[in-house]
Amino acid sequence: MVNRSDFMHALEEVKPAFGVAEEELDAVIQNGIIPYDGTVDEILRAGHLIVEQVRTSKRSPIVNVLLHGPPGSGKTAMAAEIARSSQFPFIKLITPDGMIGMGEAQKISAMNKVFTDSYKSPLSVVVVDNIERLIEWSPMGARFSNPILQALLVLIARRPPKDRRLLVIATTSNRGILTDLGFLDFNQVMRVPPITTLPALEYVVREVELFPVDEDRRDAMRMLRDAGFDKRPDESRLQIGIKKLLSIIEMARQEPDAVAERLVTALMELDL
Ligand code: ATP
Ligand code: MG
Repeated sequence: MVNRSDFMHALEEVKPAFGVAEEELDAVIQNGIIPYDGTVDEILRAGHLIVEQVRTSKRSPIVNVLLHGPPGSGKTAMAAEIARSSQFPFIKLITPDGMIGMGEAQKISAMNKVFTDSYKSPLSVVVVDNIERLIEWSPMGARFSNPILQALLVLIARRPPKDRRLLVIATTSNRGILTDLGFLDFNQVMRVPPITTLPALEYVVREVELFPVDEDRRDAMRMLRDAGFDKRPDESRLQIGIKKLLSIIEMARQEPDAVAERLVTALMELDL
């Protein structure tokens, strides 16, 4: 027999067709946003301005921006953070991870549904994450799914219905191929750079409390300077995405007696 509590339970399980994908946003900003240098603030501030443009401008019902940068530089987290801070009533992510196991047609219909759902809300953000993976780009023979590509090109540029406004935030690690494939008309393009300076790296190390004792942290930084990691940014040996840095830090943490050594060794190995 089905009683009222079953019914209420079933209701809770039904995901609304529109709304904010809180869990997905939380999942991709798992480690928060660490303001390790000025570029982080600049990107968030630029994102904020774009959000306000969408919110207030009658003339731009659709605005699309591209965040690009090397693997692991924090593009997905930044896109999600800009989306979340908009507080728009509809926020959804289209990610390759959310489409594992789907065929071409199924992916297209899932992407189409996100955009169609967004048109029900007066203000929406859709994050189109990692475009090259969404279109199944493969450098081997430069292959990709043309149907998915064509669908995405249309979706990210299509004007929403009257009185609806949409912000599309796309991300990629490969801006070059996107341009070649016809993604030419972004309203704004922003680069999410890797970490290239020791002060920025030290900021992260401090923030995640890798070294309980300050002196140990200073020792580690000295080792990195001795190894030549403090060269000018343009000739810097340091070139690491925040995602990778955080994973190296967690690895180093596993060996409490040799945290500094583990950190320095892992960073030096990146350079090879
Ligand atoms: P990929 O190239 O693999 O798609 P990505 O550039 O999208 O990687 P993210 O997946 O966003 O990188 O990973 C960044 C991780 O670092 C997230 O866990 C995020 O919470 C964390 N993080 C901490 N500080 C920052 C920051 N300032 N900017 C971006 N991400 C940050
Ligand atoms: Mg990403």
